[in-house]
Parts: sequence; structure tokens; C-alpha cells
Amino acid sequence: MSLLTGKVAVVTGAASGIGLATAKLLATQGATVFVTDIQEAKLKQAALDIGKNAIPVRVDSSNVSDIRNLYAGIKKSHGRVDIIFANAGVAITAPLGEITEDAYDKITSINLKGVIFTVQEALPLLSNNSSVILTSSIANKKGLPTLSLYGATKAAIRSLARTWTAELKSRGIRVNVVSPGYIETPMLHTGVGIEDIKLLGDQIPIGRVGRPEEIASVVSFLASDASSYITGADIQVNGGVAEI
Ligand code: NAD
Repeated sequence: MSLLTGKVAVVTGAASGIGLATAKLLATQGATVFVTDIQEAKLKQAALDIGKNAIPVRVDSSNVSDIRNLYAGIKKSHGRVDIIFANAGVAITAPLGEITEDAYDKITSINLKGVIFTVQEALPLLSNNSSVILTSSIANKKGLPTLSLYGATKAAIRSLARTWTAELKSRGIRVNVVSPGYIETPMLHTGVGIEDIKLLGDQIPIGRVGRPEEIASVVSFLASDASSYITGADIQVNGGVAEI
């Protein structure tokens, strides 16, 4: 039997990058994975690549009705959720002085509101012994110029996890955070504006940027019973970059 056989998982932002790699791994390990994203065509292709354990549902994580529809469907078909990887997110660069109201509204609605409602709306379906994993970032502690908006949303994610850990303990639900460093995904280029991956890699103690699969393996561990005594943690997966 595989590590996650019989588990029902939800992965948001699963059409690309870290979400896609994680959905692939969870499915390989035996979970049924509801893969959600706003990019419908890419999501369908992702589900085809992952194979029979993947069920694609178009969800805009910033839209609570979309989230409710997702869980209504899961309730009908599977009756429960065991793993949530609330991962969908965007990065917007803007130094203080150039932050717009639109940028603020966009980033908070996806990175914060989206995570809150992805977890809250699942509560009636979450099984005892379930595992919730939230994607934060190295930017949750480290001051990265132009990324104050992004860093603020990611710091909030750590706070949510700590509070929810306490609130959900009586139900046996664990809540953890994974905080990636620099991972080679479309976001690193389009969201954060990194052009030279090699140059960036040279500045990281381990000597390179990370791969999405290197986050997926940590999420899979946190999703599984192998991490049964870990809750409220913020696991830094960053190749040794100093956090402060
Ligand atoms: P990515 O751009 O490859 O993937 C993000 C996915 O989220 C995309 O498929 C996108 O369509 C989806 N998404 C965006 N808005 C959405 C919405 N409203 N509803 C549903 N889906 C939406 O980027 P990634 O690097 O894989 O990012 C995944 C997570 O990892 C994000 O939360 C990001 O902040 C975090 N992260 C990434 C890095 C990095 O270096 N790549 C570092 C730290 C944290």
C-alpha cells in the first residue's frame, strides 16, 4: 500500500509549479487529488498528465462561491477531505511608494482570503486525523525589497496556521506551513522578476534554486501520518538561505 492510499486531497494552484508537482506526488502515493486552479486549460492538461487519481475543478481561490461549489461536489462524490494543500498564490512587486489599491486587493484576495476560505469551507468535510498545509514563503520573515505586500500576506499565513492549530486540536486536525525559498516556477520569473537563475543560485548556500518537486516531497510528508506529531510548524525549504 502507498503512503496516501485512500486519502482525499485538495491542491489549489495545481496547474503549475509547486502545486502541480505536489498534486502529481500525492496522486502517485495513492491519494485522490482534486486539483484546482483558475487557469482552466492548463489545469485540464495537468490532470491528464497526473492520471486517473486527479480530478480537475476550476476554482478561483479568491471567490468563495467557487470554493463552496468545489466542496459541495466533493461531499457528493467522496463525503470527506483528508488533506488540503492551500497553495494558490501570486507575487506582485512594488516598492513602498508605488503600492496600488488594485495590487493590494488582488494579492490579499488570493494569498490570504483564498487560503482562509479554502480551509474554512472544508471544515464540515475534514476528517479526524486530517492534515492542512499552507504555502508561505521565505518572504514571511526576510525583508525582500519590493515584496512587502507579498511578504505581509505570507507572514499572515504563519499566523493563521498557529491559531488554527490551537482551534482544531480537538478534532485531530494538524495545520502546518511550508515556506519555500527560491523555486524555479513561472512565478519566480513573472511574479518576482528574476531573470538569471544561475546568478541567483550562486547566492544560495546550497548553490542553486530549488525545484518544485523539492517542496512537493515535504508537503507529502506533512500530509502523511509520518508527520503525526508535527503541527503548527513552519518548515523552511530554502537551500540554506538565512531567514533574516
Ligand atoms: P506558479 O505561478 O507556478 O503557480 C501558481 C498557481 O496559482 C498558478 O497555476 C496560478 O494559475 C494559480 N492561481 C493564481 N491565482 C489563482 C486564483 N485566484 N485561484 C486559483 N488559482 C490561482 O507559482 P508557484 O511558484 O508554484 O507558487 C505556488 C505557491 O508557492 C504560491 O503561494 C507562492 O507564493 C509560493 N512560493 C513560491 C516561491 C517560488 O520561488 N516559486 C517561493 C516561495 C513561495
